[in-house]
Amino acid sequence: MRNRKGCGIGSGAGSGAGRVSIVGAGPGDPELITVKALRRIQEGDVILYDRLVNRELLEAAKPGALKVYCGKAPGRHAMSQDQIQELILEYALSGKHVVRLKGGDPLVFGRGGEEALAAARAGIYYEIVPGITSALGAASSSDIPLTHRGISASCAFVTGSRCTGGKQEVRWDLLSGAVDTLVIYMGVGELAGICQSLLHHGKPGDTPAAIIERGTTSRQRILTGRLDNIDKLAAAMQAENPALIVIGEVVNVRAQLLQLQDERYHQTS
Ligand code: SAH
Repeated sequence: MRNRKGCGIGSGAGSGAGRVSIVGAGPGDPELITVKALRRIQEGDVILYDRLVNRELLEAAKPGALKVYCGKAPGRHAMSQDQIQELILEYALSGKHVVRLKGGDPLVFGRGGEEALAAARAGIYYEIVPGITSALGAASSSDIPLTHRGISASCAFVTGSRCTGGKQEVRWDLLSGAVDTLVIYMGVGELAGICQSLLHHGKPGDTPAAIIERGTTSRQRILTGRLDNIDKLAAAMQAENPALIVIGEVVNVRAQLLQLQDERYHQTS
């Protein structure tokens, strides 16, 4: 393992100190994990995993590895963030290789940065293994290009949750005009309010919008509409977490692709 910032294995917290790998498990489809992340699962002594991690991936752990669920259901906390961080440090300080496995990418709305800071402050070696964040996985697997020549030159990842830690308000006023494609995480429960805010700040009501539920998994569901009706469609379809909201002209590319595929199918069948 690369020695970084002077706190490599065997240094920092003293001999016998363990290490922490903060690992992205990818967006849901177990085949969309990176080779490096899978290797860390195979090596870890303790795997602390979140709710959105595909359980199949845990089967790759070595015999005897301890697997600890740290998941949080929306609005409910199985373990508080402080408890999770304490656990990471406790295992690492007892010499274990801790694999902190998180859905998507660990640093995109994943609190992986806080966990890395906690390890670094304790003088424990840490590394961060990137993962495919759900916005990329879910959009591509739904045939929605987040950028598309002539249609979208910019894309923003935004949280739709009100509990953003209390410090940062999402600037819907700026986002509505300045960014071509918006991908909203944790927004399904707040969908009506988000749409209202964007409409209020001048985003046209006919802007295409999509909801991608359980993106990249075999249970993926995609719902498309417009900014001014997607909330009602989502309510009618009982859209559920985990889901992403995509707003922008790029959503129409999916319809074009589906239509072309359909025409081709009818020509050849
Ligand atoms: N670190 C994760 C995000 C964690 S926040 C990542 O990089 O993807 C949790 C939110 O991510 C969910 O509320 C949902 O908005 C989104 N999400 C995660 N997995 C998803 C999936 N398979 N399909 C759709 N949305 C997903």
